[in-house]
Amino acid sequence: MTMQQAKICKGCWQQMHVPVPLHGVLSVPFRAVGIRPSKMNPNTCTICESMFTTVMRARKVTIDATVMFADLRGYTSLSQALPADAISRLLDTFYDDCADAIWEQDGLLNKTIGDAVMAVFNFPIKWPDHARRAVLAAREIQRRWTEGRNALAQEFGVGTAELGVGIGIHSGELSFGEFGRSHRDLTAIGTVVNTASRAQTAASPGEILVTEAVHQRAGSDFPDSTPKPYQLKGFETPIALYAA
Ligand SMILES: [Zn+2]
Repeated sequence: MTMQQAKICKGCWQQMHVPVPLHGVLSVPFRAVGIRPSKMNPNTCTICESMFTTVMRARKVTIDATVMFADLRGYTSLSQALPADAISRLLDTFYDDCADAIWEQDGLLNKTIGDAVMAVFNFPIKWPDHARRAVLAAREIQRRWTEGRNALAQEFGVGTAELGVGIGIHSGELSFGEFGRSHRDLTAIGTVVNTASRAQTAASPGEILVTEAVHQRAGSDFPDSTPKPYQLKGFETPIALYAA
């Protein structure tokens, strides 16, 4: 991992000005009581992950955030053609590329779902420019993947075009918290999440598609700002998406 590791939890420092050591000898007493680096963002801690339950005493919170879905195209057909160890290396590389790019922008790698990842920006580390940060992370995922996939494609004897990443991004209010009773899942739900997921489905391999909301917030970062209408599954009317 190339990313600079934070010594103290960035979330706890930003929200409460409490230094929570994440690594080394100072972190030992914290680890003893279960406070350790979050798996969703190693620069934050497990307290931050569920800050709303411990501090706010709520099972979920409504937050303004940006959601990004990135999906590895061609994975399903490749997984039938390639041996299992090759497939797991392919996914490892993809997940690592996504994780580094998301964490560099202080985002939360909330879920890995088969060949896709879901990230949330603006929780627990808050940034007013979270939409822009999601776009920067998406571009970095594309850059890293394009760089690394050539070697993988050569090794597996497939064309690089078969190994592209499609990304969708949307911003707005969503519900973040613990859902489910028997199996508790810490995640985001709501229309914003569904729309980001649908935008990802519409993206071609190598493409990043963002909604009007993202474009409005991060517009100055878009060289070409002409939207195209997309008919997304579950939406009655076409919605405008911008290539980032
Ligand atoms: Zn923390």
